[in-house]
Formats: sequence, structure tokens, C-alpha cells
Amino acid sequence: MSEPLRIAVIGAGPAGIYAADILKKAVREAGGEVYIDLFEQLPAPYGLVRYGVAPDHPRIKGIISALREVLEAGVVRLFGNVRFGDDITVADLERLYHGVIFATGATKDAPLDIPGVELPGSYGAADFVSWYDGHPDVPREWPLEAKEIAVIGNGNVALDVARMLVKHPEDLMPTEVPGNVVAGLEASPVTDVHVFGRRGPLGVKFTPLELRELGELRDVDMIVHDEDFGVDPDEETAKQNKQILVISRVLDQWRQREVGQASRRLHLHFWSRPDAVLGDGRVEALRVERTRPTPDGLEGTGEFREFPVQAVYRAVGYFSSPLPGVPFDERRGVIPNEAGRVMDGIRPLPGMYATGWIKRGPVGLIGHTKSDAKETIEQLLGDSNSWWSPEPFDQDAVPRLLAERGVEWTDIDGWIRLDQHEMALGEPHGRARVKVVPRDEMVKISRDER
Ligand SMILES: Cc1cc2nc3c(=O)[nH]c(=O)nc-3n(C[C@H](O)[C@H](O)[C@H](O)COP(=O)(O)OP(=O)(O)OC[C@H]3O[C@@H](n4cnc5c(N)ncnc54)[C@H](O)[C@@H]3O)c2cc1C
Repeated sequence: MSEPLRIAVIGAGPAGIYAADILKKAVREAGGEVYIDLFEQLPAPYGLVRYGVAPDHPRIKGIISALREVLEAGVVRLFGNVRFGDDITVADLERLYHGVIFATGATKDAPLDIPGVELPGSYGAADFVSWYDGHPDVPREWPLEAKEIAVIGNGNVALDVARMLVKHPEDLMPTEVPGNVVAGLEASPVTDVHVFGRRGPLGVKFTPLELRELGELRDVDMIVHDEDFGVDPDEETAKQNKQILVISRVLDQWRQREVGQASRRLHLHFWSRPDAVLGDGRVEALRVERTRPTPDGLEGTGEFREFPVQAVYRAVGYFSSPLPGVPFDERRGVIPNEAGRVMDGIRPLPGMYATGWIKRGPVGLIGHTKSDAKETIEQLLGDSNSWWSPEPFDQDAVPRLLAERGVEWTDIDGWIRLDQHEMALGEPHGRARVKVVPRDEMVKISRDER
């Protein structure tokens, strides 16, 4: 092609940034030229790496350095604080680009349809995660009033939530946890956090590393129950998987440990399916049904137990949101696609692609979004016959359009300014950074308008 390729990417989480990087390298290797604009609804990039990964996981947060290099290397322009659907639409993109890659991830909690789930004191994990990670669009206050808490789910997010609830806040201090979150956690009267999974101890979805970390929490006893072990006749076969073997060993160690000295306890309950949240006007208990394995999966045993708790956190998965003018599969919560090509029924929609969690659902680690992006970019580059036909190239067209609409966008220089500001706030306290939480403050600092 004679003129440079122009591609918009929506969402500056890992999926969007990896897609931009892979596209840039592939086009350059082929001797071509490409311009990539990355639109992000938040004033800061990095999606769930900044607003999902727990603050006490600095090694994972460190992935940001690699993502940042992509943004600073030129070619990819960042337009932060720009929301697709409100500030920029499909019609705008068709006018300005040859195609678009949607990488909008997932931000909401998947529903859990059990009685009582709407009672005050019942929360979605995604909301709690957003709070403790200082997301600008959630309230600053979180009601931490419960002594006994239930966490429903057996994935890494459930363990993150349980750990953040039970951990002593002073042990979070070297991290980037926001000040209001420390204050909230300091006031928490919690003594017991119960995590419930409907499968057995070897059917869990969390990774061994996340599990092992729980056993290292200061002044927290790990409680597991002998009755949950040896239930599944396939346990020995399951242990041929290395991950499961490690999980089994960690749990076995905890079964042998002395408990009773710690001021807080983290209980793991397996074979426990949530049946109802109980309470008169607010959460007072969680009722679970004991399950057992069958050749095809699981079944309820009809044996019910009630655990007195004053708060319930549902960590049963994230769910994506539909985007205006873009097909959406309401059941799976993804943009329907084939290997990244957006589909309208059985037809691919020209010029539209998807990658990351919005493409394949909210499962998998950050690393998976890279292979995902590779597949999407392969499709995009193979589709040159069906790309959109934009107006002649004009580097200023997007800034002009956003300015006309009164959008206060932020760019990579703005992010660097905000990043440095946050690190400077942390420095006197020996902390990596102190996050700026209010959106207007983030925007002001980024745009140097203080
Ligand atoms: C609580 C939690 C903890 C996790 N911990 C780990 C971990 O320790 N290690 C690990 O490897 N993985 C972890 N993950 C998984 C990891 O975060 C995901 O694999 C990854 O972030 C998915 O990338 P993504 O880019 O598809 O989505 P996201 O990270 O969600 O990024 C999507 C981006 O799109 C933006 N966006 C959405 N809608 C719009 C719109 N309309 N206009 C413009 N922008 C928009 C969002 O603001 C966001 O920045 C965790 C996930 C969660 C939920």
C-alpha cells in the first residue's frame, strides 16, 4: 500500500498495548509504515495491571515497565481520558483509520443468581478490587464493618480479595496502596474470612503461587478441613498435573500446622456451593450446600450449612460491557469474533478486530494477552482488501476532533508527569508510589494545569 496504515486501538490495558506493539513490529518488518492511536477511558494506561492486580503484588505490577516502553517508543500515540462510545464513535474511526482493534477488557462482576444476593453487605469482588486499587470511578469509602466475611469463588481474584481483607494493613505499607484504603482497612474489625469453592481442593482455579502466599501472612491462621480431602476418587490422577500436585502439597502442610495463636483466620471450604445469602435487611449468614463429585462433574448432596457472616464478597468472575455500534454476545460477555475478526452473525465485519478479555472472556493471565494479540494482528494484516477507506492522512485530525468536543484528553507526556508525581508522593514514606485517585486531579496533573 502507498499510504501508511492507520489503526485505532480501544483500551490501553495489556491487550491493547501488546497489540499495538506487535502490529508496529510486523508492519515495520514488512518494510511498511504504521500509525497507531490508543484510546483509553481512564487518564492512566495499563488497565487491570494498574486497577486489578493487587497492590501487594509488585512483581506483577512491574510488567508496567515493559508496557510503558511501548508507549514511549513513539509510533503509538496515547489518548487517555477518552471514552469510546461517548467521546469517539465507530463513525469517527471509520473516517480516520483503516481499522480498529477493541481491547476493552472486563470491568464488572459476573452475576451470581442466588437468593439474598442483593442484600446490603453483599458485594461484587470487582467493586472491592477497584476500591483497594484506587480506581477513580468508584466511591472512596468502603464499608469494612464485618467481623466474619464470606468470599465466594475459587480463583485468583477470590484469593486476592480474601488476602486483602484478612491481611494486617501495616503489612501493605511498602506498596502503592492508596491512603484512604489503608485507613479503611485499619478500621476493619475482621477476624475470620471464609472462602467457599464448589469443587474439591484439587479442582480449584487459583495458581500455587497465590495459594502459598496465604500461608505466609503474618498473624493469620490458615484453616482447612480434613473432611474436604480424599472425597474425589480421581485425586491421584489429578495430581499428575504439576500445578495440582503443588497445590495439594501446600494444603497438606496446612492440615498439619498448629493453629490457634493468630488474631485472624482464613478458612478454605471446599465442596461448598453457595445456596443463599441470608439476613433480615442485611447480610447475616451464607448458606452453602455440600457437593460431591460425579463422573460428569458435581452434584448437590442436599446437606446444607449456614455460616454466620456479616458480609459476602462474590468473586465468581468478571464480565465485559457492550460497546456502542459493536456486536456483543450477551451470554458469553464478549465481542463475537473468529480469531480476533469481529463477526456479525456468520460474516466478518470489515475493519473491526478484538483482542484480550473482550475477545475471549475474562480468563487468563497478562501473558496470555500477548499470544492473543499476535493472532488478532495476523488476521488484521491478512485483510488488507477489506480495510476501511479513511479520509486523507492528517496527524492533527484526532486532537482537533477531541478539542472540538471539549474532551480533556491526556497523552504519554501527561502520563509520565502523573507517574513521576505519584512516585514523588511515595518517596518520603519509602513507598513505590502513592496513587492519585480522583479523576479530575489525575487529569489536572497530567495536563499540567495545577
Ligand atoms: C483482580 C484481578 C487480579 C489480577 N491479577 C493478576 C496477576 O496477579 N497476574 C496476572 O498475570 N494477571 C492478573 N489478572 C489478569 C489480568 O489483569 C488480565 O489478564 C489482563 O488485564 C487483561 O487485559 P485486557 O487488556 O484484555 O483488559 P484490561 O486490563 O481490563 O484493559 C482494558 C482497558 O480498556 C479500557 N476501556 C474499557 N472500556 C473502554 C471504552 N469504552 N473506551 C476506552 N477505553 C476503555 C479500560 O479502562 C482498560 O484500561 C488479574 C485480573 C483481575 C481482575
